[in-house]
Amino acid sequence: MAKIQAPVNKNEYYDVTFEDLTHEGAGVAKIDGFPIFVENALPDERGKIKVIKVKKGFAFGKLIELHEESKHRIEAPCPIYAQCGGCQLQHISYQGQLDFKKKQVEQVLSRIGKLDMTKVKVHDTLGMTEPWNYRNKAQVPIGEREGGLVAGFYQKRSHDIIDMERCLIQQSENDEIVQAIKNICEQYGIRAYNEEKHKGWLRHIMVRYGLVTGEMMVVFVTKTADFQHKQAIIENITSKYPQVKSIVQNINTKRTNVIFGDETNVLWGEEYIYDKIGDVKFAISARSFYQVNPEQTKVLYDKALEYAQLTGEESVIDAYCGIGTISLFLAQKAKNVFGVEIVPEAIEDAKRNAELNGITNADFAVGEAEVVIPEWYKQGNKADVIVVDPPRKGCDEALLKTILAMKPKRVVYVSCNPGTLARDLHILEQGGYETVEVQPVDMFPHTTHVEVIVKLVLKGTVD
Ligand code: SAH
Repeated sequence: MAKIQAPVNKNEYYDVTFEDLTHEGAGVAKIDGFPIFVENALPDERGKIKVIKVKKGFAFGKLIELHEESKHRIEAPCPIYAQCGGCQLQHISYQGQLDFKKKQVEQVLSRIGKLDMTKVKVHDTLGMTEPWNYRNKAQVPIGEREGGLVAGFYQKRSHDIIDMERCLIQQSENDEIVQAIKNICEQYGIRAYNEEKHKGWLRHIMVRYGLVTGEMMVVFVTKTADFQHKQAIIENITSKYPQVKSIVQNINTKRTNVIFGDETNVLWGEEYIYDKIGDVKFAISARSFYQVNPEQTKVLYDKALEYAQLTGEESVIDAYCGIGTISLFLAQKAKNVFGVEIVPEAIEDAKRNAELNGITNADFAVGEAEVVIPEWYKQGNKADVIVVDPPRKGCDEALLKTILAMKPKRVVYVSCNPGTLARDLHILEQGGYETVEVQPVDMFPHTTHVEVIVKLVLKGTVD
């Protein structure tokens, strides 16, 4: 068979019009139907590109100059936006970002989910009034430069650490304390870990901030268990920052770019800090999973509650429950909630959090949702409402099959990956459910991450 010739050549220049954005936020231009992906280009823009790589069905290009700008283009507010790579959409107005996320959900539900989009209502993305300073957790790599330490971010596509005083999507309290700790450590001659040589000591500083309580936790991730000048460093931190309630050391001896090691020890203060979402209080330890945007988490969980339509009579399953955040939120309005999660420590946290709030109608089990829930059903149990909040790969088919057999009145699907969401909705639709509402929620402004919550009802039941 003759090799199909790409209509573009490497290193050549082309004038193009951009038509679309990829999920990663790159502009898409087409030459004779052949797609070229170009960073920092937006739909409706025209410009000159240089093709830098040609693959089988597509190419990558570099934007050389813009001839016509999109009405959504803005100057990225962050001065290190181009180097950092942590945000991908700062050159798009916030309204433009919200529209982009909604459109992406609509496209994927139609293409992969094969849903009848005349029947499904995709709402406008729920954004933040002030889409900055939202992250409650900073995980900052530490490096060295001549005469001192750097604390910042890995430069795009590299492992060079660039110093950063301010990250615009981070709670400013976190940035301030990271810089202060860097300076204190520098003062005591602390050495940073060197990834290439696997030498040195301080790998990362992690800081968590409870938005409602104002409490902070500091975690030193170190290569070895020793800690020189420990007392002096701790005193320096706690005397300047009384909001710090917990200082922890995590030891990661491995040659890896995974941040945390297996051993975690409290150095000073409490093992937990506390935060609240709505009326529910949570204890958060160094290694607990906790949503990073607490303001939008409340928005998301309120939607979960609305879509679950609880009257106080329902049995609810919360599959993939983490530390029980959604379970405990729903338990306030349900007869009982059963949360299932694969990580044993998360389930310990969930039980502790139930106790902390005096919630007695929530039970939790450790295991795979696709194993525990079918077992539970076989034993004769049933839920009226099932909430699922799976990781990026979506729900396991065995779980979807059990849902279809159990026939809860409503399914609330929380997803961080529209692609797998669409795949699973297709299965649920084929099995007798109807997707009635789809609500994108902007949990991660300025990044390409899209969070969606969906309400499905059993066909033929009165809603
Ligand atoms: N609902 C929680 C956490 C959602 S993140 C919250 O809002 O905070 C997805 C969770 O699914 C993670 O905690 C992960 O550990 C868990 N998980 C991954 N695979 C799983 C499986 N097969 N069965 C149960 N839980 C799983």
